[in-house]
Amino acid sequence: MGKYTSNILQIYNTLSGKKEVFKPISEGAIGMYVCGPTVYSNVHLGNVRTFMSFDMIFRYFKHLDYKVRYVRNITDAGHLENDADQGEDRIAKKARLEQIEPMEVVQRYTVDFHTILNTFNFLPPSIEPTATGHIVEQIEIIKSILDKGFAYEANGSIYFDVLKYNEAHHYGILSGRNIEDLIHNTRGLDGQSDKKNPQDFALWKKAEPQHIMRWPSPWSNGFPGWHLECTAMSTKYLGENFDIHGGGMDLKFPHHECEIAQAKAWHNHSPVNYWMHANMLTLNGQKMAKSTGNNILPAEILSGKNDKLTKGFSPSVVRFFMMQAHYRSILDFSNEALLASEKGFLKLMEAVTSLSKIEATEVVNDFDIIKWKSNCYAAMNDDFNTPILIAELFSAVKYINQIKDNKASINNSSLAVLTETMQQFVFDILGLKTAVSNDQNHKLGETIELLIKMRNEARALKDFALSDKIRDELIGIGIQLKDGKDGTTFLLD
Ligand SMILES: [Zn+2]
Repeated sequence: MGKYTSNILQIYNTLSGKKEVFKPISEGAIGMYVCGPTVYSNVHLGNVRTFMSFDMIFRYFKHLDYKVRYVRNITDAGHLENDADQGEDRIAKKARLEQIEPMEVVQRYTVDFHTILNTFNFLPPSIEPTATGHIVEQIEIIKSILDKGFAYEANGSIYFDVLKYNEAHHYGILSGRNIEDLIHNTRGLDGQSDKKNPQDFALWKKAEPQHIMRWPSPWSNGFPGWHLECTAMSTKYLGENFDIHGGGMDLKFPHHECEIAQAKAWHNHSPVNYWMHANMLTLNGQKMAKSTGNNILPAEILSGKNDKLTKGFSPSVVRFFMMQAHYRSILDFSNEALLASEKGFLKLMEAVTSLSKIEATEVVNDFDIIKWKSNCYAAMNDDFNTPILIAELFSAVKYINQIKDNKASINNSSLAVLTETMQQFVFDILGLKTAVSNDQNHKLGETIELLIKMRNEARALKDFALSDKIRDELIGIGIQLKDGKDGTTFLLD
């Protein structure tokens, strides 16, 4: 029996606007789709936060023994510069500016995306499909939507007929937008567009002669609309109706609203049971944007090479910082906030590592471990409340430190539960790693250099007893000194 049987999960569903008890379609199994990146530039820190939220959710599902199929796509075509189906394809534009192939752009930034996610200790999704790998599926969906009368052809392009759809269904069901307001607030057509109404969206766009990314279709040589790829890939790998669809808050409208409309027009039923949206990340209280310079790249946080930072931070400190906020809250990134998180992270890690050195005594515990463990689960079962979980982990840290100071005691069985639970929540679920911070690495290096210098001084004074003692004691803690032509170097086990 999986742990999921004893853990009732509450998930905030954007569709209903409230927390709901989570019931998967098939017992013990979960299908989850998350909109992936458009690979035309280095991955944005805000995107890292969104994907990290779903990585934590994926980890928790796995911990609860669910069999999870997690699909996160790569958008490598069809994402235009604005949501009104206008402007250039983002990848094609980058390729034109840099005079390289669109697939070189895709390859470069897909590699960057994977490298950054690996650095931050993400688990890979079960399937990572690409839009260009699913053109055939997208064309088939368009044919079906055309047959059902919810789309129309205009000059080689196919548009989704929002007003027609809204007669039979509810356009705005997810975002809460009202069709009258949408009509009222959308700018009129400028005469350049083939759309019947401005709120209609493209399922297929005929490629202009200069457009380099193009595929043949029954209507024109062109490319699919951005919203369609997610409908095609989620249906192909998770079915017409699946459990969870996630993404950043900014995708709620129009992207996810359009996904629902496409799927309902195609199959006449709702594609997704739980819609989950992760909130955004601000920098020093303001929206991050390349254009204003209020921006930090993930790699710059690690190196510290950005004028908004006083130093570099380890990936686990950044991960810990992000996990300290609930995924549905806005999180503000700043140098001070990271410095504070680093302190907290090191305190947590110190307590976790010291657990193996604690000696249990056969006495009464001063801390209710079973109650504490159930509080940890309760936090996660309440819509993945990681800040509450972290507060619980710190009540255990306080207890561990009291035991170390001989101010509290723990018995054998409780120590085993405490150790196992800490390991599971800190490493498996929050995804943290014990790696020392850059700052600590630096200090450790300097300390060893100092010892090497003292050993050299001892040898110069022919005090071989002392020089050997320094070498041997360092070996004892896993640091090997190697004497060579250019002096002494060291190796960490
Ligand atoms: Zn999507």
